Amino acid sequence: MAKQKMKRAKYIFVVGGVMSGVGKGIATSSIGKILQARGFNVTALKIDPYINVDAGTMNPTEHGEVFVLKDGYETDQDMGNYERFLNIELTRDNYMTTGLVYKTVIEKERNLEYAGKCVQVVPHIPLEVIRRIKKAVHRAKADIAIIEIGGTVGEYENILFLEAIRMLKTEQSEDVITAIVSYVPTPSKVGEMKTKPTQHAVRTLNGTGIQPDIIIARADRPLDEKRKEKIAVFCNVRKEDVISAPDVESIYDVPVNFEKDHLSDILLKKLHLKARQGEGLGAWEKRVKRIKSAEGIVKIGVVGKYFKTGDYVLSDAYISVIEALKHAACEIGRQVELSWIDSTDFESDTKVLKSLRRYHGIIIPGGFGSRGVEGKIRAVQFCRENQVPYFGLCYGMQLAVIEYARHVVGLAESSTTEVNQKTSHPIVDIMPEQKENLRKKNYGATMRLGHYEAKILPKTLAAAAYGTTSVLERHRHRYEVNPEYVEQLKEAGMIFSATSPDGVLMEIAELPQSEHPFFLGTQFHPEFQSSLMQPHPLFVAFLKAAAVKKNQRPL
Ligand code: GLN
Repeated sequence: MAKQKMKRAKYIFVVGGVMSGVGKGIATSSIGKILQARGFNVTALKIDPYINVDAGTMNPTEHGEVFVLKDGYETDQDMGNYERFLNIELTRDNYMTTGLVYKTVIEKERNLEYAGKCVQVVPHIPLEVIRRIKKAVHRAKADIAIIEIGGTVGEYENILFLEAIRMLKTEQSEDVITAIVSYVPTPSKVGEMKTKPTQHAVRTLNGTGIQPDIIIARADRPLDEKRKEKIAVFCNVRKEDVISAPDVESIYDVPVNFEKDHLSDILLKKLHLKARQGEGLGAWEKRVKRIKSAEGIVKIGVVGKYFKTGDYVLSDAYISVIEALKHAACEIGRQVELSWIDSTDFESDTKVLKSLRRYHGIIIPGGFGSRGVEGKIRAVQFCRENQVPYFGLCYGMQLAVIEYARHVVGLAESSTTEVNQKTSHPIVDIMPEQKENLRKKNYGATMRLGHYEAKILPKTLAAAAYGTTSVLERHRHRYEVNPEYVEQLKEAGMIFSATSPDGVLMEIAELPQSEHPFFLGTQFHPEFQSSLMQPHPLFVAFLKAAAVKKNQRPL
């Protein structure tokens, strides 16, 4: 029988110009969304220029959140945007860094896989990049892959990725296009939109042998016709291929905005793909409208420590938590207002602690190390004693259990061995196999990572929220609630409403609703599995409780 011809996938590369932080990840996700809405099977990849083999060893204040995939791979936060927009689950095939690519090439060389050839930066590094992209596309059975290159053009770091685009385009010219996301500023003193930085960025890209097919012009306002013309003339594209991408109220508006400039039609034409009808963006638009029309503000305080970089406060480290809250708010028809609270402030000042009263709910998200831990424990105690809805995520769950052990069970010395190795009551402790990792300084990709099943105890907050008895949730932690203390904690009233299937690991801790309106912590990270179209049930339950709190006691 003749071999079935494999369909040829198409590739859209997204690169950045002028400066970072203008929403290249959102642009990539939105391109995926509009093509998905047209009935194509899409996948998305991120390529990051750093030497780290994955994102797992990076401090969140340096690089933002570490997003964990279902297979446990620790990646860049943009992967979270792709999943949230596209409602698909990505795998380790969809992410690569310079470090990973070099590591693979060097390993292959050691295994004689290059058959005695001189292995060179070009072509072997870009060829490995292309091989990985094709593998991901094949695994996802995708019609179209959108591949985002980290950093901006002109940086030394990502030059080999641009080289990969050039090589793939040379080989398959009809299947590859490049979009550059650039920034068009309107300096206040000048009072006019300036296109020159975009022109320079495109020239720099041209210098690597790539002509962009699409220019996505990010700006604080829509591009006027004159600016579109100017960019078109100076950057060698048609005026229609310059897409206006103004600031928007919600990031989820971006796909809808792109379609105002007919982007999906333009992309399909350039990729020589026959248009399909698809489901369209109707359901999506409805949700986005709901975000905007929601009334009544629920105030949530997030108590953490990864906020400050120099003189600025950044919330990038908790991006999935923020988005999960927005999805849940949309679901219950409310607006959510977030405040960032540095837990180190509670360590010395009880007045500041009392200021927690002004929130309708408190979240303590994931974290590592000892800085700010005592402040977080005080915040948990405050929430527990004052009936403030509390939602702990990973470290936030572990610290809630420690707080309970200290103040309810009466084990005043309770701690986690992550903070105090000599504590007489290691309520949260490391598992034996993890001890070995730490002894060998084997830190990279060795935590308990990715999907694990949790069994839910009936008639609990967790069971009511999930409406099921078994869930798969994503993890990223080294420490666990110590099984030796579980009975004592239970006797004192704590409910472990979800555990690993063998019952050894505690997955959710909560308090009975007769005692507290909503007090729940998860060992896993539910925020990694929330999307606009499918908000996470625990976030929805938490926000509902916070909304009730708001109604009970107006601020
Ligand atoms: N530091 C804790 C642990 O390693 C919690 C991790 C987290 O919050 N992601 O177990």
